Amino acid sequence: MILISACLAGFNVRYDGGNARNNLAVKLVALGQAITVCPEIMGGFATLRVPVEIQGGTGRDVLTGRAKVMNREGRDVTRQYLQGAQMVLKIARDHGVTAAFLKQKSPACGTKLIYDGKFAGNKVPGEGVTATLLQDHGIKCFGDEDLTLANVRPYVDAVTWENLHHDNPRP
Ligand code: SF4
Repeated sequence: MILISACLAGFNVRYDGGNARNNLAVKLVALGQAITVCPEIMGGFATLRVPVEIQGGTGRDVLTGRAKVMNREGRDVTRQYLQGAQMVLKIARDHGVTAAFLKQKSPACGTKLIYDGKFAGNKVPGEGVTATLLQDHGIKCFGDEDLTLANVRPYVDAVTWENLHHDNPRP
């Protein structure tokens, strides 16, 4: 089973009420090959919400207590972020997830890039809190830029592959 950031599957769960729809993500969910999660919603946040960034490090640093997750108004939301990540991990384990495709640059879902904590739009190399926790538990995490037929092929069944391949003749 694949895990996908809910915003990639078209759910309006982003902080601003929008989504980041990706057609392949939507198909994988519709074909029963993927489940969706939003770590921020699972951490107790609402949509709409104040944007947050990791300050003082990366998702790894948050998990080890060396960095915090702060919202733009200066509120420490680290506890909610850790709760969301643990809930996602539990869901992933319960569903036998082996791979995750996650929205890049999110302080929860980012797999290669996150914002630098200054709320100025600057990106730095690093992973989000949930992505780090999932990878620590053996779940391969990809960014949304990696959502290609070739990359999902090892994680879908033969019938689904034929279905996807038929829709997109050049994987
Ligand atoms: Fe999308 Fe992840 Fe942000 Fe939720 S936490 S809106 S799933 S990027």
